[in-house]
Amino acid sequence: MGDMDPISMLQPAATRVRDPLSGRSVWLAGMVKNPRLKGDDLHYDLVFQAEHTPADREGIAAALVAMLEGLGFEGRAHGLHAGALPARPDDPPSEEAAAPASSDPVPGMSGPGMGPHGGPIEMRRLDGVRHIVAVASGKGGVGKSTVSTNLAVALARAGHTVGLLDADIYGPSVPTMMNVWDRPMADHEHQRIIPVVAHGVRCLSMGMLNDPEQAMIWRGPMVMSAVRQFLQQADWAGCDYLIIDLPPGTGDAQLTLIQAVELSGVVIVTTPQKVALADAVRGVSMFQKLEVPLLGLVENMAWYELPDGTRDYVFGADGGKDTAARFETELLGQIPLQTALRESGDAGTPAAAGDGPLADAFGALAARIAEKLP
Ligand code: ADP
Repeated sequence: MGDMDPISMLQPAATRVRDPLSGRSVWLAGMVKNPRLKGDDLHYDLVFQAEHTPADREGIAAALVAMLEGLGFEGRAHGLHAGALPARPDDPPSEEAAAPASSDPVPGMSGPGMGPHGGPIEMRRLDGVRHIVAVASGKGGVGKSTVSTNLAVALARAGHTVGLLDADIYGPSVPTMMNVWDRPMADHEHQRIIPVVAHGVRCLSMGMLNDPEQAMIWRGPMVMSAVRQFLQQADWAGCDYLIIDLPPGTGDAQLTLIQAVELSGVVIVTTPQKVALADAVRGVSMFQKLEVPLLGLVENMAWYELPDGTRDYVFGADGGKDTAARFETELLGQIPLQTALRESGDAGTPAAAGDGPLADAFGALAARIAEKLP
């Protein structure tokens, strides 16, 4: 939990739980009151109205605990039910009458090896998800997020059901690139986080969750714990492909994520430049060591297309092809350097959703992935 005061975690958690009566978050609905610490435990009052059914109350209490854990809270959270009860609407808030919220709200999120607390976790399959594909890069700025978002959109456009998890905790770009800023809601009935749909893709990103300033004060492990909950507790069921936009590089954050679920494979994005290729090579070796199937490389910024249609190989020609050959893997696709691609990313209208050579390039990449992972 680090430096963050547990009491201050209540607001971000409560803004993510929906009150079925008012349709607002339980925070805005004024249902979470009077937070206080008792040792390491966080206590607060949950103020309900007479119309809240017992199932509503339990669901909200459990969802709030799950959200707190998702934010990295490691103590026990007790929501003391206060306010009007259906039977006796005038009851004053009282601790004796209160039922503590379950500290294990989500099935499967406790037990040996698991835990939202940053400890080791067991690798698991995600129910109802056919293929999980990680998109990785040896270093930042090579276009990993551009490829992740456009690949996801292209797969969806081809008729597949697609999820996109932005696990790039250092610089989540999915909200910008997909133009999706809505906060994901908690489905407290099924104890799941509901991704937000954009361009036909179910999306989740840390960037949707908190104010930029707030992201700054979260410590790495807390953020990782939240991302892992996004992976394991969100409603991805029914997805043919879940694309994970991994953080750049080959450090602990990447390890934690790729070991959290069984991946069908990884796609490595690189530019043809020698330095970028050297980093990509490190990525390839890491995945090979971990025995994650390598689907292949995507060469981004492969060339710059001049107005007359000729190609300027700005970062060198054939770098991706040579590296793919060296690792006996496939060059899955080549994406040109094009101002329109940067602009579409900034505008939140992925090129893959449009027409023209860029959309075709991502369409071909999606088709190749779907062929390798039917
Ligand atoms: P990463 O996820 O590897 O850090 P991004 O996908 O965020 O990289 O890309 C970094 C920047 O470069 C973004 O502004 C993006 O729009 C731009 N960009 C990526 N690929 C291309 C390309 N092929 N042509 C033009 N701009 C690109």
